[in-house]
Amino acid sequence: MVLATAGKHSATHAVAAVYIHIPFCERKCEYCDFVSVAGAKGQHQYVASLRAELRALGAALDGSVIDTVFCGGGTPGLLDLRLMGELMDEVRASFTLGADPEITLEINPSSSSEQRAHAWRAAGFNRVSVGVQSTHGDVLGFLGRVHDAGRALAAIAEVRAAGFANVSGDLIYAVPGLDDKRWEESLHRLVDAGPDHISCYELTVEAGTPLHRAVAAGRARVVDADSALRQHHIAVHSLESAGYEHYEVSNFARRGMRCAHNLVYWRNNHYAAAGVGAHGHLPASLAPAFALQPPPGALSFRYQHGRAIEAYVAGVARSPLTVRNLEWVDATMRAEESIMLGLRLREGVRLEGTGMAAEARALVAGGFLEVLGMQARATPRGEDVLNQLAVRLAAHCT
Ligand code: SF4
Repeated sequence: MVLATAGKHSATHAVAAVYIHIPFCERKCEYCDFVSVAGAKGQHQYVASLRAELRALGAALDGSVIDTVFCGGGTPGLLDLRLMGELMDEVRASFTLGADPEITLEINPSSSSEQRAHAWRAAGFNRVSVGVQSTHGDVLGFLGRVHDAGRALAAIAEVRAAGFANVSGDLIYAVPGLDDKRWEESLHRLVDAGPDHISCYELTVEAGTPLHRAVAAGRARVVDADSALRQHHIAVHSLESAGYEHYEVSNFARRGMRCAHNLVYWRNNHYAAAGVGAHGHLPASLAPAFALQPPPGALSFRYQHGRAIEAYVAGVARSPLTVRNLEWVDATMRAEESIMLGLRLREGVRLEGTGMAAEARALVAGGFLEVLGMQARATPRGEDVLNQLAVRLAAHCT
């Protein structure tokens, strides 16, 4: 077993990942708390701002080799195809890409077609993540999704036909009305469509969403935690039986098809981010490029551009590397974050110090953790209480 999570003092200065956020959607889903708006009004101006930010980021990261680019949203697949082509041209012009980069586009089934899929390939994407969410019409209706059950799986066939060799599909569980039998059915139908990678997310009710208001008014109910956990176990069993590796709490992959971009997040490595709502994490050595002065002890900084498109566009016009919502990360924070994030991975995390090792031994005795040398990973039992494990281990980060 190879375990490779960034340790407390292993602050790498390499930045090998770029996230790009496209905030436009056909309409807002009932449960959505992402930075997104209904409609694509203003997309030309928005992409112009993105390109300016990407150019400035590329100059700041001069010398870095980018191995993963992830265009997420929102619904990036909704973007005008010419604009998308120009955006990807900008990525290639601004950054030095690695020899075999993973370049992902998030799409929704409703904005997919074989012709659009060919254009996405031509723009330079080599991986597509499809927001299938469910294969049951009533569940899609409850979630407020635009597509129906047939379209959900047709999109996977379309991107395959256009030549995408790396395709992922997302599903949502713990949805009111989705019983265990139909959840298992959704998993089987998606497996039959043949994606290389599957993500299964629990429905969460976020404040400020229409779903939250419906629950508060008694018009919708939430699925209890035990049922949600049971459906997570059904996913793990079904997908492992179908030959997918359960490599992260919510993610499953065929051999060699893990999402390299998301592994950057879980391994607590650095990544650049462009666009409204996008979160970046960069080494403190890059702070001057953002007109920032790192405080003593800072190893890195996390940043975001706020949630309003107009404010983002205005901010980039003033300075393309404007940062909002800045947070400095010191060695202790970095170690805590590495534990929190890395425990989600089957490859596990590196234990730091004798206090943490002693805590890990207690968790091994309880059947929650497996330890190999100074590396630890959650057992299936530990995965059910992952946050508590992370808190107990992170308490020993100093
Ligand atoms: S498609 Fe995704 S980002 Fe857009 S509204 Fe629905 S959940 Fe939100």
